[in-house]
Formats: sequence, structure tokens, C-alpha cells
Amino acid sequence: MAGPSKKAKSDIAVTPKRKRTFIETWKTQFPWLRCVDDIMFCEVCREYPSIADHNSKLDEGVTGSKRIETLQSHESSKYHLLCIQRKEVTEKGTEPMFVALKKQAENMDDQLKPMFNTAFYVAKQKLPFRSFEGLIELQEKNGIKIPAQYRNDKGCKAFVQPMQKSRRTEFLKTSRLQDSSL
Ligand SMILES: [Zn+2]
Repeated sequence: MAGPSKKAKSDIAVTPKRKRTFIETWKTQFPWLRCVDDIMFCEVCREYPSIADHNSKLDEGVTGSKRIETLQSHESSKYHLLCIQRKEVTEKGTEPMFVALKKQAENMDDQLKPMFNTAFYVAKQKLPFRSFEGLIELQEKNGIKIPAQYRNDKGCKAFVQPMQKSRRTEFLKTSRLQDSSL
């Protein structure tokens, strides 16, 4: 009988290589995600080219196969988080600390990065705000310039609080990725 071998042949024929396409629900899961003309990119990173990591696929734009893994790793990447943080500072800048920060931020990217990174660390490790000051001092000893008005724990709060309020989910995801004990 030739039946079974014929069937096997057609089974192979119906399994074409599948191109991974963009999935609309990703936009809900990743609010920063856009897809225009089949190019998938991070809107927030593109908004802050002076901060964003230009080696990131999602800054450049993904034209080929689209995978959720790319989005997940972008979501927890340092420069993406900095861009998200900057966007919040820009949009919610009404408190005096934020107004001052916004002014400084215009041309102080390099000086603000250690502040953001330290605030992230303090929040992630659940350290008291006052440990921020010590960490900043340590970095100054290592030669990193820190704007004077952010040296104290109030400075840390200014960085951390908006993050805690509105990016809590994102934070937990990040922490889970980096610290499985959470
Ligand atoms: Zn991004």
C-alpha cells in the first residue's frame, strides 16, 4: 500500500517556516512599544537619543522576526529604564525638586546617570533612603561628579518616588529577572 508514505510526504509539505510577526497585545504588555510599517521599536528610547542605547535593537527598530524575548530584555535594560525615568521626570515635573532636575537634565546626562543608577539600586535592594547619600559620596571619591543638590536622601526620594508609584510593575519585573529570591 502506498497510502502511509503519501500521507507522510504531505505532512512535511504543510509545515512552512513561520516568520514571527508582531502581536497586537504586546502593546498592552509593553506600553512603550510601537509598530509602524512592520518596524517594531521603543517609542521612549527614541524620544531620548542622548540617553538611549543605540546598539539596542528596539532603538534601531526590528524589521525581521519579532520575538517577545527581545521586548522582555529591552524592558529591563539600563538605558531603557533611564529613558522611562527621564520621561516621567519631564512629564510630572511640578515639584520643586523635579523642576530643578529638569533644568539640570538638559545638558547633564552624564552627571545624572550615576544618580539614576544609585536610586535604582537603593530601591531594588530596599535600602533606606539615607543610604543614598553614602553611596553617592563613595562614587564621588571614585571621581564621579554629582550635582550638589542631589547628594542627600531627599535627592534619592526625588528619583525613586515617581518610580515606585508609577513604574512599580516594571520594577518588580526587573527585580525578578535579576534577583530570583524576591
Ligand atoms: Zn526603550
